[in-house]
Amino acid sequence: QIFMPLNFLGFVYREIRGSLANIDKLFNLLAQVPKIKDTENAETLKTTNPTVSFKDVHFSYGEKRKILSGITFTVPAGKKIAVVGASGAGKSTIMKLLFRFYEPNEGKIFIDGKDIKQLSQDSLRAHIGIVPQDTVLFNTSLKENIRYGNPKATDDEISQVIKLAHLEAFIEKLPEGLETTVGERGLKLSGGEKQRVAIARALLKGASIMIFDEATSSLDSASEKAILSALRDAAKGHTSLVIAHRLSTIIDADEILVVNEGAIVEQGTHDDLLAKDGEYASLWQTQQRNKLEP
Ligand code: ATP
Repeated sequence: QIFMPLNFLGFVYREIRGSLANIDKLFNLLAQVPKIKDTENAETLKTTNPTVSFKDVHFSYGEKRKILSGITFTVPAGKKIAVVGASGAGKSTIMKLLFRFYEPNEGKIFIDGKDIKQLSQDSLRAHIGIVPQDTVLFNTSLKENIRYGNPKATDDEISQVIKLAHLEAFIEKLPEGLETTVGERGLKLSGGEKQRVAIARALLKGASIMIFDEATSSLDSASEKAILSALRDAAKGHTSLVIAHRLSTIIDADEILVVNEGAIVEQGTHDDLLAKDGEYASLWQTQQRNKLEP
């Protein structure tokens, strides 16, 4: 008779201790002063079809190691630019600078010709939808997980992004459909499904610039196909930057940038780069060979 209540008390004690530790972390986070501040007369970004450009951007996280050296490229309004390169080449860093998590040491980043340093961070970030490599799912329904992209979204808007993210067939098979609980204590989603939820979320935000940071995890060919279609549909009508690990995802990109040790070493369309027979071509051949192997 005494074992169960004592066991329960132990459980409650552990839960409370865990929660207190989390509250402590939260307060530490809130107390941090942000390094990047808006300028006094920061402008509000207003654009529906933006052009993004990097001009001779140099960057290092610390004093010593240079991560980006002289990055220059333009994503014309409504076009899709892909960034490829080895792990650690600096691809994600390019995206972090556009989102202004960090500032370039030299060079500038422009949206519609405006230096992003002169824009309010809120308005800049409201214009950028990000599909990250690792998607965090909360312990709630799939619907609420998607709605996280825009808490004010209507059910119709949610249905629309579900279609664009090619999640419809997946949701139809779930016992409770969109109401199914996902996350740590709910249904576990595969890497490909999670990334499509992230695409739906990002689309729901209604941002005009989309950043896709493709997950490195290997996918079966059905998942890869679904992601590919979702990426294609999601990029339509947006100015997009895609960090790709599987080159098959970006064959249709308007331009591909090959980054090596923080510098752009090749750029062009998929066909241009294959014809060049350089770094991209050899990366492509390696991936094709690996696909054929059982
Ligand atoms: P991957 O394909 O593995 O995601 P990547 O090309 O996106 O790699 P980045 O994440 O941009 O590479 O990292 C470039 C370099 O910067 C790496 O050497 C990494 O260790 C370093 N780096 C990344 N983030 C930080 C950070 N917050 N502080 C210090 N160094 C960092």
